[in-house]
Amino acid sequence: MIECDALIVGGGPAGSTAARLLRLAGWDVVVADRARFPRDKVCAGWLTPDVFPLLDLTPDEYRATGLTLQEITAFRTSVMGGRAIETRYPHVASYAIRRCEFDTFLLQRAGVRVLEDTFVRTVRRDRAKWIVNESIEASVVIGAGGHFCPVARHLRDATDEPVPIVAKEAEFRIAEQQTRVSGTTPELFFCRDLQGYAWCVRKGDYLNVGIGRRGNRGFATHIRDFVAFLERHRIAADVASARWHGHAYLGSGVGTRPVTGPGVMLIGDAAGLAYPESGEGIRPAIESGRLAAETLIAANGRSEAEDLRPFAETLRCLHPPARENPAPVRAALSAVGRILMNSPAFTKRVVLDRWFLRTAY
Ligand SMILES: Cc1cc2nc3c(=O)[nH]c(=O)nc-3n(C[C@H](O)[C@H](O)[C@H](O)COP(=O)(O)OP(=O)(O)OC[C@H]3O[C@@H](n4cnc5c(N)ncnc54)[C@H](O)[C@@H]3O)c2cc1C
Repeated sequence: MIECDALIVGGGPAGSTAARLLRLAGWDVVVADRARFPRDKVCAGWLTPDVFPLLDLTPDEYRATGLTLQEITAFRTSVMGGRAIETRYPHVASYAIRRCEFDTFLLQRAGVRVLEDTFVRTVRRDRAKWIVNESIEASVVIGAGGHFCPVARHLRDATDEPVPIVAKEAEFRIAEQQTRVSGTTPELFFCRDLQGYAWCVRKGDYLNVGIGRRGNRGFATHIRDFVAFLERHRIAADVASARWHGHAYLGSGVGTRPVTGPGVMLIGDAAGLAYPESGEGIRPAIESGRLAAETLIAANGRSEAEDLRPFAETLRCLHPPARENPAPVRAALSAVGRILMNSPAFTKRVVLDRWFLRTAY
């Protein structure tokens, strides 16, 4: 039996952040992940600048490791097929990383025991301890296993799941002459019903293309149309033959679903924390990983429901439940939104600064 103070299920940004902070506070921490690192993650790899201070890291320190860090100073946005608006910033507005590099770097930096190739199947409470896979015993379990996290399943009623964001993306090496997308200027293409968007994000020699939508109705058609659109407008070549990967996650905020129980907490995608407007989930993953570790450290080793309440309450404030509008209201908002998105001022102040960069809150 492996014994530890805290077992973290999932070594993505949420898990590695919590692991590092607990280890620095003297906890004996184990991370179990079903993957072997470096592992890839279906993601555009776009980061808002606030991510770096949350990691106690500067962009320069990350770049100095030799890993890809693309600076972003502008965005091209359009409703798919419509007129594009280019919004320029006088400073670095954002960054793009490659998840296979970023996640491995963060997990190594956490400096804890990592059990790779370890698929967590069973989680049970035995008196004041957690027993995982009948082979790991921990006082505290942190569920950081993403959308399909087994710890989240243990805590939650699966019939109560809100509509997920479904997404597909491909990341591949591309030559300069094969794409018009510049590294400093990612392109965002909003679906006409504004229920999702597609993107092209260049990171050095790599291009990441993808599309995410609320719910999976008609998703295959949206992907097909997007690929045809990219090729027709010569935005990027060979997109259809790239290897596309799909994934789903929640961006509906913390509502009535539990994020804590005695000796257990959920963080990152396992708690459904991606921002509903942009789908950005790396920053909430890191922020919630920090918050979980800080709560446990402040509670001095205690982890009963009462001790973990500050964590649950702060998460609910940061991620209030997203309002679910009825279909006619959604259609009306989409029609108005399509008109507003022709306005450079609306695009900058609302779409980019407020929804995507979250600098205007
Ligand atoms: C197509 C797409 C594009 C996206 N683009 C962006 C973007 O540009 N910027 C952004 O901020 N966010 C983006 N997101 C969201 C972002 O990827 C997630 O919110 C983020 O990865 C959440 O981090 P996490 O640590 O919670 O989970 P993850 O990064 O998913 O890590 C979970 C870990 O748990 C492990 N695991 C899962 N199940 C088990 C198990 N049973 N046993 C053991 N280990 C397990 C997995 O192997 C994985 O390593 C995107 C998502 C998608 C789908």
